[in-house]
Order: sequence, then structure tokens, then C-alpha cells
Amino acid sequence: MSFGSWGKRDYSARNKRASNWRQASLEKLGLKCSHCGFADPRALQLDHKKGNGAEERRKIKDTERYYKHIYENIEEYQVLCANCNWIKRVELKEGKKPYQAQ
Ligand SMILES: [Zn+2]
Repeated sequence: MSFGSWGKRDYSARNKRASNWRQASLEKLGLKCSHCGFADPRALQLDHKKGNGAEERRKIKDTERYYKHIYENIEEYQVLCANCNWIKRVELKEGKKPYQAQ
């Protein structure tokens, strides 16, 4: 089982570094939802204030580089809990394009 084990280890090390950057960013922003104050880190997410996080995520494919990018551009981000992030996403989408029944 020597094939691939190095790659696997490397992958998990990168994942760990990515989650370290993510954790550092959350701590820098205060570890609670900026909208409702929810403070359980398991449901906290980093949200791009201008809503183009998905585009940046596509541009920066590497997870570790992506979270490092957030940490280095922290003023462009806010912490939202999963609920608020989802509601914001739905509202933005509804604002852009009215829901149309088929
Ligand atoms: Zn919230």
C-alpha cells in the first residue's frame, strides 16, 4: 500500500492548513454571526460581503489558497451562520431574478 499514501497524507495536511486559515479568519472576525449573533462555530461560515464569494471560490480552486486569501482580505468578509448565509443567498437571488413558476 505504498502507492498513493504520500498523496493522501499531503492532501490531509493541506486540508488541515486550509482549516487553520479558516479558523484564523473566523477568530479575526469575532466567531459569531454578524447578523443574528449565533456563536456556534460548527455552523459559522465566511461570507463575502459583496456576495461574489462563489466567483472567487471558482477562481481560486485551491482550498488552502482560498482561505488564505480570505484571511488576507478579511475586511471584505463577514461571519454569518448557516441560516443567515442561506437566507441572504435566497434574498439576493430573488432580488436579481424574480421567481417564475414553470
Ligand atoms: Zn445568523
